[in-house]
Amino acid sequence: MLKINNLHATIDEKSIIKGLNLEVNAGEVHAIMGPNGAGKSTLANIVAGKEEYEVTDGTIELNGEDISELAPEERAHNGVFLSFQYPVEIPGVSVTNFIKTAINETRKAKGLEDMPAKDMLKKIREKSELLEIDRKFLSRSLNEGFSGGEKKRNEIFQMAMLEPKLAILDETDSGLDIDALRIVANGVNKLKSKDNAVIVITHYQRLLDYIVPDFVHVLHDGKIVKTGDASLALELEAKGYDWIKQELV
Ligand code: ADP
Ligand code: MG
Ligand code: MG
Repeated sequence: MLKINNLHATIDEKSIIKGLNLEVNAGEVHAIMGPNGAGKSTLANIVAGKEEYEVTDGTIELNGEDISELAPEERAHNGVFLSFQYPVEIPGVSVTNFIKTAINETRKAKGLEDMPAKDMLKKIREKSELLEIDRKFLSRSLNEGFSGGEKKRNEIFQMAMLEPKLAILDETDSGLDIDALRIVANGVNKLKSKDNAVIVITHYQRLLDYIVPDFVHVLHDGKIVKTGDASLALELEAKGYDWIKQELV
């Protein structure tokens, strides 16, 4: 599904990603962990196509196709989803209306007509039931006055509705209370299937108490320096990151 080969990237001529390799197959959940400043969010942004980063070497393939020249919207239309891609507050536009527009834009990009209203309603009903999201929430203005947990609920709902092939959830270090962690974990666990893949980026092991990843990677200084199974996350929780840095010397 995703194959990153020897990726190097800079921002403002500062080298951040320094020879990163990663392969993610359909049906898998990967966790990327690592100390602050390692380049985790940079990696997520580069895969999603944010334009402030410059890829100086290497390739990013999605289902065998090089996507590194595609615009962020084109990558989204190809099935890449990054959490916090739509963080804006839009007074007067509800959670539901926003996602309807996003879905129809994706369809338009593929030459399809708008989704019939009846199908859209059915899908909204199914996904909101699956994720235990109540109707009142769906009619609220997008992100306006949302709590941390509500922001997460909205993101996971967007993910459920858009049905990405590859979802990247960048769980930034702040504002993840237990409620928010559970919402994210529950969403990932319910939405994962043999046809999609999820990358969860986190600084904290706590999230992985609720999501059991197939692979855990440690990102350090712009490279993946260690890969293991879920037990690696527990080891990191107990021992921190310093032992990994020492192994590298
Ligand atoms: P992480 O998510 O692992 O904490 P980041 O990817 O946010 O790390 O950051 C990696 C490095 O890139 C840091 O040294 C950070 O200061 C730098 N960096 C990230 N974004 C920018 C930016 N927009 N401008 C300048 N430096 C940046
Ligand atoms: Mg950070
Ligand atoms: Mg980050």
